Amino acid sequence: MGVTLDLSRAPAAGAPTSAMPNLAGLSRAELAQALIDAEVARPDKARMRASQLWRWIHHYGLTDFAAMTDVAKETRAALAEKFTLARPEVVERQISRDGTRKWLIRMAPGIEVETVYIPDVGRAGALCVSSQVGCTLNCTFCHTGTQALVRNLTTAEIVAQVQIARDDLGEWPSPKEDRRLSNIVFMGMGEPLYNLDNVAQAIDIIADNEGIAISRRRITVSTSGVVPELGPLGEKTQAMLAISLHATNDPLRDKLVPLNKKYPIEELMAGIRAYPGLSNAKRVTFEYVMLKDVNDSAAEAKALVKLLKGIPAKINLIPFNKWPGSEYECSDWKTIEAFAAILNRAGYASPIRTPRGRDILAACGQLKSESEKMRASERRKLAAE
Ligand code: SAH
Ligand code: SF4
Repeated sequence: MGVTLDLSRAPAAGAPTSAMPNLAGLSRAELAQALIDAEVARPDKARMRASQLWRWIHHYGLTDFAAMTDVAKETRAALAEKFTLARPEVVERQISRDGTRKWLIRMAPGIEVETVYIPDVGRAGALCVSSQVGCTLNCTFCHTGTQALVRNLTTAEIVAQVQIARDDLGEWPSPKEDRRLSNIVFMGMGEPLYNLDNVAQAIDIIADNEGIAISRRRITVSTSGVVPELGPLGEKTQAMLAISLHATNDPLRDKLVPLNKKYPIEELMAGIRAYPGLSNAKRVTFEYVMLKDVNDSAAEAKALVKLLKGIPAKINLIPFNKWPGSEYECSDWKTIEAFAAILNRAGYASPIRTPRGRDILAACGQLKSESEKMRASERRKLAAE
């Protein structure tokens, strides 16, 4: 059974308390500058002071300046007057019977995103983070694309998703081994390449060795194919690339991923081939959502193999997660297996992504809006299935 804890009336301990800048979203250089500007550190001491704070914030996960025991008491008080380390409010937290966890996080009034932890993915477990509230693109099979409200998340808001997951998983101070949260995937709400600056800075913070220290090779950014930003993504982040392909010809991809009209498949493939650092050890993941009688034929599996020729690639087949009002159905299991078999014969291994956290609606493309709309009774019915 899924477990739901409604925390909306819990004490507002994690709520943003004020408009004070949150230090968790700053780069090392910005942190040093902020300390100088706030007259908390002298310019010649700022870098050292910033390193000290960095460890407290990103290695120990502190949310309270008062606990920074090697910082002078007056400095701690001065910091607390000018800055905050408070987490955004967790409005709802759910744990699936399969161990998947989902948090609904309120970044600001009316600005809510979901973050999902999926065990047994990647080395130990992956956190699926959001990069925007809603999405400006309108992929026809994706529920996020139907949401009206869109804004980019700030760096601090992206980092906060990782911090909240770590709070809940009990992973402070940052463990070197036996981590439950080992991988990060930017596959939540939004198009990360439309918010590249904040995503890249968040990755710098998350990957920093004296902090959360999740290696860039364990951080994957998924895009619907914003071709001009692929190069900058690779250069700025050295992250792993995932491409939401979903179709092997332009007319169909135009319909499923309308951004294809701007950057058609040929341009997309050229952009992918040029992705910095691509090799057999660092492959591109191609995501392919399985839509019944739309893109799931044997001919399309063969076309996919042909299209990916010469690219170091992995393929993830995603069973379509249906949402109320969607015009698609998920392919039959047999069809998915037949599609996978063709890919396997061509040398691509274990490509079907098993649905996780179904009872708490934690699947791709189902985030937030649907879980909000769905009544608790319906949720219970799903959980009991
Ligand atoms: N905007 C980015 C990242 C977020 S979507 C992108 O499109 O890549 C993460 C993945 O979930 C994408 O591959 C997306 O195509 C897929 N997805 C969206 N809605 C889905 C649904 N209803 N069922 C299955 N996969 C879905
Ligand atoms: Fe946006 Fe990705 Fe959904 Fe397309 S699949 S609407 S790009 S979140």
